[in-house]
Amino acid sequence: MRERARFAPSPTGPLHIGGVRTALFNYLIAKKSGGKFILRIEDTDSKRTVDGAEKHIIDSLEWLGLQVDEGPIRQSKRSKLYKKQVDKLLKQGNAYYAFDSQEDLDSAREAGGIDFKYNVKTRMRLNNSFTVSEEERKKRVEEGRYVVRLAIPENKKISAFDEIRGELTFDSNELEDKVILKSDGMPTYHLANVVDDNDMKITSVVRGEEWLSSLPVHYLLYEFFGWKPPKFYHLPLILKTSGAGKLSKRDADEQGHPIFAVKWEDSNGFKEHGFIPEGLNNYLALLGWSNKEEKERYTMEELVESFSYEEINKSGARFDFKKALWINHLHLKDLESKRILDLSGQTKKLLVEKYSETEAIEIIELVKERLNTTKDIDKELSVFIKQPKEIDVSAIEKINREVIFSVLNFCKFNSEFVGSPFELKNELMKFGAENNISFGNIMKTLRLSLVGSLSGPDLFKIIDFIGPEETLQRIENLINKI
Ligand code: GLU
Repeated sequence: MRERARFAPSPTGPLHIGGVRTALFNYLIAKKSGGKFILRIEDTDSKRTVDGAEKHIIDSLEWLGLQVDEGPIRQSKRSKLYKKQVDKLLKQGNAYYAFDSQEDLDSAREAGGIDFKYNVKTRMRLNNSFTVSEEERKKRVEEGRYVVRLAIPENKKISAFDEIRGELTFDSNELEDKVILKSDGMPTYHLANVVDDNDMKITSVVRGEEWLSSLPVHYLLYEFFGWKPPKFYHLPLILKTSGAGKLSKRDADEQGHPIFAVKWEDSNGFKEHGFIPEGLNNYLALLGWSNKEEKERYTMEELVESFSYEEINKSGARFDFKKALWINHLHLKDLESKRILDLSGQTKKLLVEKYSETEAIEIIELVKERLNTTKDIDKELSVFIKQPKEIDVSAIEKINREVIFSVLNFCKFNSEFVGSPFELKNELMKFGAENNISFGNIMKTLRLSLVGSLSGPDLFKIIDFIGPEETLQRIENLINKI
């Protein structure tokens, strides 16, 4: 069956990775079946709508390449449709008008204590269609001073099905007579959500676990309308790295990792932290999915192919930024060199000025293995463009000053070898053996002079690219520094 799956965020704030994962799982289920991925903006609560949030959602999906087949469809534009369905429920006796003022509700709540529920037991003491006169009801409805509440039946066992958890049973006495239409004529989440899922012929609803408690209300609505419910998948929570509780923006800030796909106000997203969409999509797909294959790196096509809902965990998924970086690295190292060059920012210009295009590509091949984020690209390439700005002073102590001095001087006074990395290597080996200096220390010294630190791509390849003059210059610089 071709699935129709929707991502239905409320634009009440920026889209964090929990939401992104929900979007991704919806996308995967749709694409796996050759179906459609729909974006619906649930913006019926104008008081909670945040400026720029919808744009942030759309920008995030766009950057990630989760292409929307239908939408964005905004609920705020569809109030007529909801009103019609509310009228149907009213007519059937599955919903009723309520006229309580805020004060009425507050005092009922106060009298009822923390267990107070607006339900079959309390509704007869409150201000609604059941308790006011016919005349009063008509008047209030005409004046538009009402809300509509769902009439939750008493003592009803509601059976619902979640594809991840199986059969679930809820007790209707635990539920409240939820407001389904507000005084401003706008529906609330539950009603609009169910009406739209039916209207848009949604076959699979993938959403966060926090919506599990809404499932019985949704099932009741489907029953009242006489519609068939879609398949539901409630995804496990994304937990803090420590595993204790739900991951929040605050935890992310404390741990120094992003929580948004793309920048929101002054918080950088994964994009700005140097992730590529392939890396983030892949990492998020693994959050909550216990894939049976012994494999970590998935392209989007492979995800679509391999992803299976039977393998989604019920329990929370711990967020692990190190793992996210690792997965990003797996994608970066296999990325086409041309694309890496494009991601390299300013360095691209400098590299192409100094080297031919073929050489530039060869250089990128040398550094690919070393990239965790796109930010590493400039850092790794800079070795081939300019002298190191800083020298890792602690490394000088580790190797030993005297050793460094003699190795560098050897190169300086035997500069004829520097033009040929192969010869230079042989000569340095001989020099090491004669002077009792390990080849490891010789390499570290050279690396320190050329790169400024003890790590970097293949040393003799660097020498080959930057040429003898530049190599000797960097050697001379270090001699002057120690
Ligand atoms: N608007 C809800 C949200 O913001 C959607 C929940 C659902 O997918 O049903 O998460």
